[in-house]
Amino acid sequence: MSDTPPDSVVRTYIDTHRAAFLDDLAEWLRIPSVSAQPEHAGDVRRSAEWLAVKLKETGFPVAEVWETDGAPAVFAHWPSEDPQAPTVLVYGHHDVQPAAMADGWHTDPFEPVVKDGRMYGRGAADDKGQVFFHTLGVRAHLAATGAAAPAVNLKLVVEGEEESGSPHFRGLVESRAAELAADVVIVSDTGMWSETTPTVCTGMRGVADCEIDFHGPDQDIHSGAFGGAVPNPATVAARLVAALHDDEGRVTVPGFYDGIAELTGAERALIAELPFDESEWLRKAKSHAASGEAGYSTLERVWARPTAEVNGIAGGYQGPGGKTIVPASAHLKLSFRLVSGQDPYEVEAAVRDWVAARIPDGIRHAIRFGAPTRPCLTPLDHPALQSVVRAMGRAFGQKIRFTREGGSGPAADLQDVLDAPVLFLGISVPSDGWHSPNEKVELDLLLKGVETVAYLWGDLAAAAPRTPA
Ligand SMILES: [Zn+2]
Repeated sequence: MSDTPPDSVVRTYIDTHRAAFLDDLAEWLRIPSVSAQPEHAGDVRRSAEWLAVKLKETGFPVAEVWETDGAPAVFAHWPSEDPQAPTVLVYGHHDVQPAAMADGWHTDPFEPVVKDGRMYGRGAADDKGQVFFHTLGVRAHLAATGAAAPAVNLKLVVEGEEESGSPHFRGLVESRAAELAADVVIVSDTGMWSETTPTVCTGMRGVADCEIDFHGPDQDIHSGAFGGAVPNPATVAARLVAALHDDEGRVTVPGFYDGIAELTGAERALIAELPFDESEWLRKAKSHAASGEAGYSTLERVWARPTAEVNGIAGGYQGPGGKTIVPASAHLKLSFRLVSGQDPYEVEAAVRDWVAARIPDGIRHAIRFGAPTRPCLTPLDHPALQSVVRAMGRAFGQKIRFTREGGSGPAADLQDVLDAPVLFLGISVPSDGWHSPNEKVELDLLLKGVETVAYLWGDLAAAAPRTPA
């Protein structure tokens, strides 16, 4: 909990502007900006243009649509009047997942409905609602400070292809690095532990993935005439999979764990403080048991430990009945979740060497890696993270706890290219139904997001280290 009480000016300002804010959000949700479906390309563009206009109206002197080789992004900048103010870059996305009544929606996904303190509609939580709380948030911040400009140099970048894997985002960040330059990046595209346990996420895992083809005989051959006397590519693939982990669930690829950020005792204690119900988690996982690296809890395994996963394995005859062959080929799809300290390209090189050393004579193999995503992690004692925790604490009136994200996202590109720490400010909760029918956002939490932003910019400006004039 924060020592600084909530600000009545901020709360009054938010109450006064709440209705108009929600009307505007509903208007944005009516634009079906589905980046995955080519027939909605015009809507994704319309969504970007709508947002740029709204950011201008909010007061951003710069608010423009940025073209990419795919869907457009939106950039906005509101400079502080303080020449020494830190620069903050907020990240979000304006595209949404596909949605249709036939998927099980109770109401039209693109005709938002407010019911029981929630707004239902595609993008309500992921991610339009969470981008949009920054607009009223900065206005409430100005209402509280009485200043004409924010206490930080405030930038926003809102991409239009996140739900399609952000294929052009890294290129955009690289080509616009000077305009996007920031001391800290704040990602508003994540969630909290629950409605009653507000949390801030401190990092995401990275990911590297590969496909491996194994080729043996030039065609499927008779197992009676040749089997037992030539190498079998399916056996080679299976032996490789079997060798990937030791009996303790650790990945056996040499060097895989080199340099990783081990959990500290304090971090483990904070994770253990969360009200985690493993049987509930297993129900959501649709799995019948938890298992993984020995010596770590389930949350530690998915948040803070690197993994190797077999995503697919194929080879040989798959049709009905038997077919006595030595197959010509076999195939594997593997992915590796990475944690802070691991370099995806070093992992790739280590996996390539490890695989190559296990290929017997008579088997040819080809291994292809996709573009990796790096992990990101902000230390608990980082001053900007402390600012986020204080601002959330004032808004929520509760102790703010810490989570991590087991998945991976484009935030890492911002960290990488801009060389700035990445923080996560998200108010969504697991019941919001991201990517599912009947997606919604809790209006109380949405307004807590607004309030957090209202406190955050002043706190960050005061906490940021300054270069003497
Ligand atoms: Zn999202």
